[in-house]
Amino acid sequence: MIYNEEFETLPREALEALQLKRLRQVVARVYHTVNFYKKSFDKAGVSPDDLRTLNDLQRFPFTVKQDLRDNYPFGLFAVPMSNVVRLHASSGTTGASTVVGYTKHDIEIWTELVGRCFVAAGLTKNDIIHNAYGYGLFTGGLGAHYGAEKIGASVIPMSGGNTKRQIMILQDFGPTAICCTPSYALNLAEQGRAMGVDMRALKLRVGIFGAEPWSEKMRGEIEKALNLTALNIYGLSEIMGPGVAMECSEERNGMHIYEDNFLVETIDPQTGEVLPPGTEGEIVFTTLTKEAFPLIRYRTRDIARLNLTPCRCGRTHYRLERIVGRSDDMLIIRGVNVFPSQIEAVLVGIDGLEPYYQLIVDREGTLDTLEVQVEVTEKQFAGADEIKVIQRLEKSLIKDMKDYLGITAKVKLVEPKSIQRSFGKANRVIDKRKI
Ligand code: ADP
Ligand code: ZN
Repeated sequence: MIYNEEFETLPREALEALQLKRLRQVVARVYHTVNFYKKSFDKAGVSPDDLRTLNDLQRFPFTVKQDLRDNYPFGLFAVPMSNVVRLHASSGTTGASTVVGYTKHDIEIWTELVGRCFVAAGLTKNDIIHNAYGYGLFTGGLGAHYGAEKIGASVIPMSGGNTKRQIMILQDFGPTAICCTPSYALNLAEQGRAMGVDMRALKLRVGIFGAEPWSEKMRGEIEKALNLTALNIYGLSEIMGPGVAMECSEERNGMHIYEDNFLVETIDPQTGEVLPPGTEGEIVFTTLTKEAFPLIRYRTRDIARLNLTPCRCGRTHYRLERIVGRSDDMLIIRGVNVFPSQIEAVLVGIDGLEPYYQLIVDREGTLDTLEVQVEVTEKQFAGADEIKVIQRLEKSLIKDMKDYLGITAKVKLVEPKSIQRSFGKANRVIDKRKI
């Protein structure tokens, strides 16, 4: 099923024509209403009239997170405050939070786009959606909430935390779908089991997971633990919130970006050079329809690749493959670059290990070191020959890290339940170099 057949299946040529029309409008508007853009375009020697084709956008300067911070809180808004009906702030994973605003029309578009996501996941008005994304300044909760109501589903506004209560509601209300971070889904599954609940027997059939990087192997673990189909949703508050891109249930292979609303580019994160679509690099978005807080060429710092192949579902919008990580989360271990999600892909699913892990980065002399801590299963931990088995597992993991990622890491298997559980975005890396 497709929510907005007309726009989600636009032939490429018509889509690009629409993008160009919208792009010219938004660029002209920010130039005349936001001092920051006027200055930065003037400095780069470009004017809105230079936009004749989509490629001309490459001559325009990027916008980066620091620009948002420098204009804190409302300096980049393109409408008077009297037209702003909602404010949100990013969760501040990587520093001071940034503020975003929405007009009534912005909320309507956001609502539709999240509605599109739910329909892409195969949900209808007959579904009950358990929404465990945090409500509040974080865009996740309210974003998903409005979209769920838009398609006529019954939404349970759970928000994050209070896990025991969540498990009770999951049993009593019988939701058919759940929204949360993938790490919290695992946490819920584990706590439910500990309470003696058969988490596979709940009515849940679809999970919509996002807001943090996760691996294909993690998808398998969550599907096994909760007996549902897990789908990936992507978004960031600067660009809108959840619902910028969503996997379709037909292929489950990359998230369709709602390109009638967002123009996407891939760049080399070091040089800023635009890369051919389909190459791995940093994802850059320009918003095409936002009124209150338009962003031109915003560098997300998310590293991924676009999939340009046509999709069975009929949507023509390009797909964003799994986010490898944020460029600022990249670890450099003895000269080898690695993202936490790549480490996750190596260690999740190994017999005897739980999908809970933590990465500890430290420095010895001038070299950075990495210790990977993973929990062993209860069974393994309590078993006979425990020490021998654990040593063997550690050795084989060290070898896997070397073989698959080329990194030399220490591996420490730890007791069940000793790694902190996530209630929202998981914090996988402890960086002792900064302490
Ligand atoms: P913050 O930047 O403070 O974390 P947001 O809540 O806006 O604020 O988070 C957006 C970021 O979350 C994205 O830029 C991306 O790094 C990450 N993210 C969101 N959805 C996904 C996803 N499906 N897969 C991987 N990462 C994601
Ligand atoms: Zn599709």
